[in-house]
Amino acid sequence: MTIKERVESVRERIAAAALRVGRDPGEVLVVAVAKSFPASTIEEAIAAGISDIGENRVQEAKAKMAEINAPCRWHMVGHLQTNKARLAVRLFDWIHSLDSWKLAQELDNAGSTLGKRVRTLVEVNVAEEPTKTGVTAIELFPLLERVGSLPHLSIEGLMAMPPFDPDPDGVRPYFRRLTRLRGEATSRFPELSLRHLSMGMSHDFEVAVEEGGTMVRIGTAIFGPRPQ
Ligand SMILES: *Cc1c(COP(=O)(O)O)cnc(C)c1O
Repeated sequence: MTIKERVESVRERIAAAALRVGRDPGEVLVVAVAKSFPASTIEEAIAAGISDIGENRVQEAKAKMAEINAPCRWHMVGHLQTNKARLAVRLFDWIHSLDSWKLAQELDNAGSTLGKRVRTLVEVNVAEEPTKTGVTAIELFPLLERVGSLPHLSIEGLMAMPPFDPDPDGVRPYFRRLTRLRGEATSRFPELSLRHLSMGMSHDFEVAVEEGGTMVRIGTAIFGPRPQ
């Protein structure tokens, strides 16, 4: 299959999942995660109608951005080290992986210097896995309370990367958990506008859409298997 055919198939599957639960498929943004694929492949995806590109490493993304002329928005979906915060703010339109007060302060500082309001999602470690990044449910509310005061950060939702389960239905409880946390956070902090839920990848995005996802981060189902 070509990238264009895969993009069309992904869009059809998103639409079907949205309609199953009475959602408008237009609420779901496809972020095509292009890590380890070259700039030329990204341009193919943009030509096929993709508007949003995800990357998980700042330096890799920077190199590709320099090669790409087609208009698109860039999403940092991987873990972000505080020492890369400034560069990430310069390069990316969205940061999906805010996971500490220290990183929040760095992003806010960078936003201040660059005169930019940094659009971010807070990453939640929904399965409380010790090896994974993201804040725990208990850490989420205190962090949201503090970041609300940072003028150059715009906190627009939550992101999660649940453990891999060969059965996509196995991750449904984690997606539900993120949706529920967003609901609780919205009632506790009505001043924040937590519109987005970044959840769902190639093998489970339909379940994520059924559970309320508004950004699906899709790599393999659009680009094919990643080159090693
Ligand atoms: C690689 C990656 C994805 C996409 O993974 P696929 O399974 O290839 O769709 C999504 N989110 C993050 C954070 C990633 O690193």
